[in-house]
Amino acid sequence: MIRLNNVHKSYGTGSNSLHVLKGINLEIEEGGFVSIMGSSGSGKSTLLNILGILDNYDEGSYYLNGMLVKEMSEKKAAQLRNEMLGFVFQSFNLISFKNAMENVALPLYYQGVSRKKRNKIAHEYLDKLGLLSWAEHMPNELSGGQKQRVAIARSLITQPKIIVADEPTGALDTSTSYEVMEILKEINEDGITVVIVTHEHDIAAMTRQIIRLKDGIISEIIKNGDLKQWKHQYSKELEIA
Ligand code: ADP
Ligand code: MG
Repeated sequence: MIRLNNVHKSYGTGSNSLHVLKGINLEIEEGGFVSIMGSSGSGKSTLLNILGILDNYDEGSYYLNGMLVKEMSEKKAAQLRNEMLGFVFQSFNLISFKNAMENVALPLYYQGVSRKKRNKIAHEYLDKLGLLSWAEHMPNELSGGQKQRVAIARSLITQPKIIVADEPTGALDTSTSYEVMEILKEINEDGITVVIVTHEHDIAAMTRQIIRLKDGIISEIIKNGDLKQWKHQYSKELEIA
């Protein structure tokens, strides 16, 4: 579903240039539930933005669903994003002057779906996320967890194949973080590939594959069975650090 070969990315030019990704090789299978971990500034968001076709890469290749993502027209990129991808962010990115239902319905508005139809579908997704009674509420009347559920409902409304989420629990307390991760797990069980970025190892441990980003490359990939061992090791590393 996702395949990156030797992907490089720098910001800036000349002596001011910063080489962030230094040859990323990565494969994510359809139906995967993956977290990308790494310290602050290690390039997690840069990598996720490339996966989400929100940003370009400089070298290497990125195949999404067998299609080479490179120097696409903005129109083509937008089309691929609309067909394939849903986005969730740390800061929710809800529109403050639209209610929960209108926020969820927004992607359908951009697709030209009639108001009646998009509101009906938005209600279905709010219901799925347990938010039906909050449909008419404004974002500032919702808790952090509720806001993120609205954002997740909005990401699902276009029926994406892949959800990419940058620090989806970064602004939430611990118990709400686990609730949001449980929702992402259920979405994954429905067959959607889920890729998250996090720097919290307890959150990463809820996914089925952990990719560690260090010094611009993938330093480690930890799969299902090894998670427990890894968590133990990683806690020790943190103790030492
Ligand atoms: P992470 O998400 O792991 O914290 P980022 O991918 O956001 O890391 O950033 C990696 C590095 O690239 C950081 O040093 C950051 O300052 C830098 N960076 C990120 N975006 C830009 C940009 N648009 N222009 C210049 N530098 C950037
Ligand atoms: Mg980041």
